[in-house]
Amino acid sequence: METVTPEQRSPRVRKARCCIVGGGPAGMMLGYLLGRAGIDVVVLEKHADFFRDFRGDTVHPSTLQVLDELGLIDGFLKLPHQRLQKMDGLFGGAKVRIADLSRLKTKYPFIAFMPQWDFLNFLREAGKRFASLEVLMSAEAIDLIRRGDTVAGVRAKTPDGTVDIEADLTIACDGRHSTVRERAGLAVEEIGAPMDVLWFRVGRKLDETENLFARVEPGKMMITFDRGDYWQCAYVIAKGQYDAVKARGLQALLDDVVRMAPVLSHGIADVKSFDDVKLLTVAINRLPRWTQPGLLLIGDAAHAMSPVGGVGVNLAVQDAVATANLLAGKLMRGCPSEQELDAVRRRREFPVKMTQAMQVVVQNNIISGALKRGGQPLKVPLILRAISAWPWLQGIPAHFIAIGVRPEHVHSPVA
Ligand SMILES: Cc1cc2nc3c(=O)[nH]c(=O)nc-3n(C[C@H](O)[C@H](O)[C@H](O)COP(=O)(O)OP(=O)(O)OC[C@H]3O[C@@H](n4cnc5c(N)ncnc54)[C@H](O)[C@@H]3O)c2cc1C
Repeated sequence: METVTPEQRSPRVRKARCCIVGGGPAGMMLGYLLGRAGIDVVVLEKHADFFRDFRGDTVHPSTLQVLDELGLIDGFLKLPHQRLQKMDGLFGGAKVRIADLSRLKTKYPFIAFMPQWDFLNFLREAGKRFASLEVLMSAEAIDLIRRGDTVAGVRAKTPDGTVDIEADLTIACDGRHSTVRERAGLAVEEIGAPMDVLWFRVGRKLDETENLFARVEPGKMMITFDRGDYWQCAYVIAKGQYDAVKARGLQALLDDVVRMAPVLSHGIADVKSFDDVKLLTVAINRLPRWTQPGLLLIGDAAHAMSPVGGVGVNLAVQDAVATANLLAGKLMRGCPSEQELDAVRRRREFPVKMTQAMQVVVQNNIISGALKRGGQPLKVPLILRAISAWPWLQGIPAHFIAIGVRPEHVHSPVA
């Protein structure tokens, strides 16, 4: 479909000051913050609800701090969740401590594991008190509306037909496969990753208390999170090897999994077919340009992160906070200029680049090395030996994972 011009208007038009495309962590947090500032904002989410495939469900101390600043933390922590403070691993049979969040000087020194849909529903419910915020579910942005060179909103497909959301500012939070980005013709700079990840869940008995986060063996790597009545498992494979894994058959995969993590033997039967296994094609990329006149992209739409550190959700939330801090006041008066919109990139690009650089270091020095070892014995990398031997060092990876680079605090106006 060609880009829509005002002459090709859909019969149904909704006007808004700001249209946010995508109800993920970035879009729902930004919708909440702009609604809180009294800005007329519409969030479009293409799915009918938030109950989708497994996605990142780690809520880190920096996001917990944001929820605290918004007065939402008590309600949030009442929702079922698990807490993680110490990250321990087995590296070629040797036990190592990777990070210890209890060493952090922060109000919430733990990672809260909560299904992403609970987090998003929570934000949606909390935002209902703002009259200027509307969240439209089952509304998929399919194209941009343009007035000359300026983006003037989006055309959306809904169960009741198409609707044109005419907006002074459109903010794309539609994730790593962003339709808005593609329609805007913005090019992504690929950084690359040596691995993909298979996600699946395995039933857990309450007396299975083993608290190992990562397991690395020659040629294999896996992460397990205790999620109450199940283990969330991430099995790391070399990039592009999913078809080869499938060709070996499900049983061969499950045998490898149980050999690495015997604690999973009782629940492994929950993985009945490859339909129960979700492939995450790992990407690290970013946009050199996050804006066009009338358009801004944030979250995964602007920078897909590696799963290393599980920071994607939190960076998306931090982007949303920075966007509201920088633009909410200006949005009250109209659409910020492209130069003003670009302030978001100028603020957030440094944390994104630093985080991606650290992810690449881990990928190249730990993950690639382990995956390439085949049958040869593994040596614990020097960096992990040092962190494990000197407990005070465990605060450094903990800080990178939990707080991140340049954490944001809420300064946006309240209506
Ligand atoms: C399998 C998997 C595991 C992951 N594990 C972790 C983890 O443990 N920790 C972590 O921090 N991160 C993890 N991530 C990454 C994390 O989920 C993302 O970084 C984060 O969700 C990005 O938030 P976002 O709001 O930018 O985009 P998304 O969460 O991708 O949200 C985009 C939203 O936009 C909607 N959408 C897309 N296109 C349109 C459209 N055209 N119109 C309307 N709506 C649209 C989508 O339905 C979606 O709701 C994982 C990702 C995957 C896939």
